[in-house]
Amino acid sequence: MEAEYIAYSYDGATVSGYHYNVGGKQISYGATTTCYPTKEGKPEELYRLSGTEAKKEHWNTEFLRLGDDRRRLVLSVFPDIKKLDNLKPPKTIYEIAVSKIHKAGLTRVCSRCDGTGHYSYNQIDGTRCFKCGGRKFTLPKIADKYLALVKKTIAAGRESEDAL
Ligand SMILES: [Zn+2]
Repeated sequence: MEAEYIAYSYDGATVSGYHYNVGGKQISYGATTTCYPTKEGKPEELYRLSGTEAKKEHWNTEFLRLGDDRRRLVLSVFPDIKKLDNLKPPKTIYEIAVSKIHKAGLTRVCSRCDGTGHYSYNQIDGTRCFKCGGRKFTLPKIADKYLALVKKTIAAGRESEDAL
């Protein structure tokens, strides 16, 4: 089945949620028609896309949901990402971006676990350090200066790879 993206709205203008269906796999987010009616009534279909357009819309929605800092980080590592098709999910791309930044030497050893990825035991996470999520490193605060450095360093790395 072709991918389908349906956006819903309470007021006929603002998107309140969506359904995304691809190959029989359903993803829903936010307020859609399956939600219980609220004071504002029940959300109604706002627009519907299919095929490549639906895939793109879903990717863009998930990309927005990464949040500002993560989105800016991804765009610093992959400046041309929006021009590409058939991309991996934004969350996966974020992880790839982080590992590229780490390889480029632009991360810090986690100060909580001293770069081991482990800290005191708890029932939910075991010994996984919650500060770095077990990654062993952390990123500096996402600020313009840092993002500019990331962009420059990654671009320089790409050029040297191209030269091989
Ligand atoms: Zn840690």
